[in-house]
This record gives sequence, C-alpha cells and structure tokens, in this order.
Amino acid sequence: MKTFSFHNRDSDETADHILEFLYDKIEKKKQGSLDSLKKLFKNVSEIELTEILETMSSEGLISIKNEEVLLIDNGTKRAELLVRGHRLAQRLMVDVLGISPENANNVAHYMEHVLDAETLDAISAFMGYPEFSPDGKPIPHTSGKKIFTIRPILCKLSDMEIGAYGTIRYIQNPVDSLSQFGILPGEMIRLVQKRPSFILEMGSTTIAIDSAFAMDIYVHQKSK
Ligand SMILES: [Zn+2]
Repeated sequence: MKTFSFHNRDSDETADHILEFLYDKIEKKKQGSLDSLKKLFKNVSEIELTEILETMSSEGLISIKNEEVLLIDNGTKRAELLVRGHRLAQRLMVDVLGISPENANNVAHYMEHVLDAETLDAISAFMGYPEFSPDGKPIPHTSGKKIFTIRPILCKLSDMEIGAYGTIRYIQNPVDSLSQFGILPGEMIRLVQKRPSFILEMGSTTIAIDSAFAMDIYVHQKSK
C-alpha cells in the first residue's frame, strides 16, 4: 500500500527509511534535521536526496522548516505502518523461525516495505498481539487501538482450556527436558489438567510438565 509515487524502488526505500528515521527521532523526543539525514544517507547523492525530500514534501508526508524535517499526516501513518511492520517481522523471525535477533533486524528492513496493514494484523494475531519488538521497542498499532476482533491463532499452553486439543507451534525457550518427552513443534496434544502440575496427553503417553514450561509452549488450540 503506497500512498506516494516514486519512479524507482530505491527512492521508495530511501523515502521509507527517511520516514522511519523521523519516527525514531519522535520516539526519542528529538527532531530530525536535514544535516542528520545527509549524514545517514551517505550512499544517496545530495541532489537525489533533495529530490526525494521535495517529492515527499509535495505528497504531504513531511514538512521542512528551518532545516528541521517533520513528519506530517500521511507521513506519520506510513511511518507507523513501516515501524509496525519492522517490529512484527522481527518478532515473527526471532520467536517462530528461531533467527538471530541481529539477522532478523537486517531482514526486517527489507520486509517492512512490502507488508500491508492486513498482513500485519494477521501476523499480530498469529503471534498473540505482541506489544514489543525483541529489542524491547513498542509495536505501534496503526489504527490507534488494538484489534481484538480476531481471536489469536496461538495461545500459551497455560491459557488453554482443560480438555482441549491443540498442535504445538513453537516453544519460546526450547530445552532438552521438553524435547526428550517429544514435546516439539508439530505435535498434537490434549491438556488434561493444570493443577498442581500441567498434565498433557500425546497419543497414548501422559506427561507432567512444570508450569514454567507451560508459559513457553505456544499452541494452536482446536475445539474440545
Ligand atoms: Zn528500515
């Protein structure tokens, strides 16, 4: 979903990164100056950068006053979408795919440009509406409020209903003591009891696990 029209993809990405940079400044309660943008985008020529900034200004994304660059209207909306995309992509890669936080951060800089609001809401729902990125930054909600109309697809084992079936989708801190019992992503389980300890059925096996582990196991819950 692009709200502005640049002639090539590199300019689009530069424009997106300018918006992200300005959003980051706002989070730090600072302002972005033309000078800091020139320093940040050393790989873009000054002529090209000026052209991009002028186009962004005419599109109502930014305003430039006395060497300060400010996010406005559509620019703020686009920046929120990009930052939401970046931080949700990080969460998805780190938590579900097991990618290192550094690599996830790099890849998220590419993914953020193509993730639209609907996809982001679906990722958020899939992840159980995370509030923070893996590096602890708040994930913006572009609608200004949380969307709770979609039921989260994954829930913690500790939040499952007793008697319900579910498929394990991911384990936050995988430990040998779980995998030795065959508690692994892809396995179908049934929750038998929660107290005094968690008891699961997997096929014909019954397994008791510590409640601390039940907080780390994410399940796609099916009906009883
Ligand atoms: Zn980025």
